[in-house]
Amino acid sequence: MPLVTIVGSGRVGTEIAKHILINDLADVVLIDIDPNKVRGEALDLTHMVAMLGIDRDVKPSTDYRDMSGSDVVVISAGIPRSPGMTREQLIYSNAGIVYNICKSISEYCPKAVVIIVTNPVDALTFIAWKATGFERERVMGFGSMLDSARMRSVIAKKLGVRVSKVSALVMGEHGEAMVCMFRYSYVDGTPVIALLSSEDMEEIRRTVRGLGAEIIRLRGYSSTHAPGVGVAMLVRAVLRDEKRVYPVTAILDGEYGYRGIPLAVPAVIGRRGIEKIIELELTDDERKELEQAAKKIVETIKQALPPELCADIALA
Ligand code: NAD
Repeated sequence: MPLVTIVGSGRVGTEIAKHILINDLADVVLIDIDPNKVRGEALDLTHMVAMLGIDRDVKPSTDYRDMSGSDVVVISAGIPRSPGMTREQLIYSNAGIVYNICKSISEYCPKAVVIIVTNPVDALTFIAWKATGFERERVMGFGSMLDSARMRSVIAKKLGVRVSKVSALVMGEHGEAMVCMFRYSYVDGTPVIALLSSEDMEEIRRTVRGLGAEIIRLRGYSSTHAPGVGVAMLVRAVLRDEKRVYPVTAILDGEYGYRGIPLAVPAVIGRRGIEKIIELELTDDERKELEQAAKKIVETIKQALPPELCADIALA
């Protein structure tokens, strides 16, 4: 029986659990530091699968040992942004949380694939890689999957076409330095650069960058529905060895000219985790944008980690 542990049973963690269960992907262990909250969430989810008649278990826990035997461990524990905050400001509170969880993963789940959701997701993917000591293929961040879905939605609205006909790609960073890859975005096979003016693209870029903050401004807390379903898609790609291409945060080892740096890039996701990083050909402008993203992520990492753990980070 496949088993997935989700550490952090807050708004996002429980959404992820919900989609894993509804799609009958795995039994779920839900771990949180708040014992009542995690038990309450697990009970509600247990009744949800009963309602649907799906034979899946949800086990609540405050003990990291209960993640033993998991095929995938998702980390969504930590502090989310409040109105006016940047994701990078979360590094101070979330780096230690993710580091400690990852130490437990390496102890109790040495064979698992690890997916980081907690923000700042790119920097924390690096910290998770260091803390677990796993090979880079088994540690990935949710990366720019959410930003790519947002770009897809904004392009569809702008062009007045169905969202199902649009594919869009965001790379680099899950934050202000994200790189909207218009040259690799399509409507039914037609490149969107043939359909959008440069003013349109600038407007779309601005809109996509601001959507996370806009959700927080409107309802007081950050996005849950889209990351919930997106992370479950990533989990499914691993459990079912789907070999789907998603833009995840990967630790680069020479790809795009970087080594030992976490960056959101398109990658083939399967049972072994990140099975292949896809290296797209970039223009000079795209390369410069990607470099800005990489620099920003490295600055964030260096704020959180002692210098000896940053020693092998190398910018292009
Ligand atoms: P939340 O406050 O609702 O939930 C966080 C949970 O983590 C809480 O239940 C808390 O008790 C728990 N927690 C804290 N420290 C813990 C520890 N050491 N061990 C176990 N559990 C612990 O927050 P949320 O809205 O679910 O967001 C969670 C994280 O996900 C945030 O950092 C947020 O920024 C991030 N996020 C990322 C993306 C993305 O695209 N990468 C999207 C949305 C949210």
